[in-house]
Amino acid sequence: MKRIAITIDVEQDCPPFLETMRGIEEGLPRLMELFWNKEIKTTFFTTGKVAELYPEAIERIPEDGHELGCHGYAHERFDRVNKEQAGIAIVKAKEILEDLGPSIVSFRAPNLKFPQEYVDILQGNGFKIDSSIAKYKPPFPGKPYMIGDITRIPASITSSFLRLPLPIILPILDNMHDPVLFVHPWEFVDMSHSPIRWDCKFNTGKFALKSLSAVIMHFKTKGYNFLTMSEMAAEDDNRNEVEIVSQE
Ligand SMILES: [Zn+2]
Repeated sequence: MKRIAITIDVEQDCPPFLETMRGIEEGLPRLMELFWNKEIKTTFFTTGKVAELYPEAIERIPEDGHELGCHGYAHERFDRVNKEQAGIAIVKAKEILEDLGPSIVSFRAPNLKFPQEYVDILQGNGFKIDSSIAKYKPPFPGKPYMIGDITRIPASITSSFLRLPLPIILPILDNMHDPVLFVHPWEFVDMSHSPIRWDCKFNTGKFALKSLSAVIMHFKTKGYNFLTMSEMAAEDDNRNEVEIVSQE
């Protein structure tokens, strides 16, 4: 069966430009409702800080059957902090998130920037999956691979891609193997008047929500299975599909 994963990076609005939380207050409930109505499961990579500020909203994520993952504590750029600081932020965030639901096994670094030599922080702290890499960023990983016990699953497209017109995006998505999409709650709030980069604000709000809904319906109609990151990694394990990469 063909597979697709929708992932959501839950953070302040459009970092590093804003510190507001309209995405959590207005966008996240819209996404939760959409996924509930479409009966699909997704993965929410959430910062520890958002979980501290909005525990009830974050608690609902695993309650609705979605996977809760970790997106750092304060949306750190892990390529700009040392390994010790990275470890402290990740452990702190994991503890906060685990207070609100089951064990956290999936991780994605902000900006998809996570030095490969930091992957053993994840391994040492009970994670199993790292989605801090992308097919469209060097070294352009074509498919998931393992480092130690950690399965690295690349994101397939950048988030603003999903806000382009459907006739452009659907044929591209159709040609992807196991697409891993990602969005942010703040993209489902009208950010057109915010002082942020153009690619962050075009077609945000209602357009983005309608478009994501249409993408979900498109793949449901085609019989795709919507999986969480953990489910995708577990299936790959059973099929022996992932490549093993040495830590060097
Ligand atoms: Zn992020």
